[in-house]
Amino acid sequence: MRMPTEPSDLVHFESTLEHRAWVYGTMGLLMGSVGIAGTHTDSPGEVLALLASCVASYYAADFVSGVVHWGLDNYGDGDTPFFGSQIAAFQGHHSEPWTITQRAFANNVHKVFKPATAPALVLLAAAPFTPSWLTTFGASLLLLLCLSQQTHAWAHKKPSQLPAAVLALQDAGVIVSCKVHGAHHRPPFEGNYCIVSGVWNPILDGNGSDQGFFRRLERIVQAATGVKPRCWTDPEGFAGAPEGDQDT
Ligand SMILES: [Zn+2]
Ligand SMILES: [Zn+2]
Repeated sequence: MRMPTEPSDLVHFESTLEHRAWVYGTMGLLMGSVGIAGTHTDSPGEVLALLASCVASYYAADFVSGVVHWGLDNYGDGDTPFFGSQIAAFQGHHSEPWTITQRAFANNVHKVFKPATAPALVLLAAAPFTPSWLTTFGASLLLLLCLSQQTHAWAHKKPSQLPAAVLALQDAGVIVSCKVHGAHHRPPFEGNYCIVSGVWNPILDGNGSDQGFFRRLERIVQAATGVKPRCWTDPEGFAGAPEGDQDT
């Protein structure tokens, strides 16, 4: 595993104006959608529905983060249309996992916020005509998915590098911990794809059996397209220890 040797290595990890524009622009669209949903919420029942949709989006985001991560890790490459840069970032993360611990916030998350901008615009445009709970669910889901790249980064840092509040959230299982995500970076390199809370990992992995959700999905993709996932054909391509392991 290559480690940073030159100060110039670290320049690429700073946030640029473009990174911040994608991140804070898309966040603004999502916040605007939730604001419109709030103005259409009057009764206690509607407030309860909003709160329930926030909780549901938290669980849904962990599930979707796992499916997206699994897809990006296992299929395509940097030349794949539309998602090539996201695929290159996720697959490259396995050979140089240390880089995620060096990136500034917007630098790290902008690649996930970028493809979320179009759906965020649709959510904002449709918000005046959509039930408040549905707008809130969609906006919270998108926001949590985009921020999963930050919970992922925290899961790679040493505990001594993390704020106390983040450590407490990891310890409580509210966000994915170094220990849980560390298993994704160890043999057999075929599970623990969920990076929001990690609560779906044992369910989707089927506790390591070949009847887990991802193993079944991989067989369906192979039967339909003939394409095998990278975790079957190039498990060594997933090698690389997470940074946080060093003092846990
Ligand atoms: Zn991965
Ligand atoms: Zn990772």
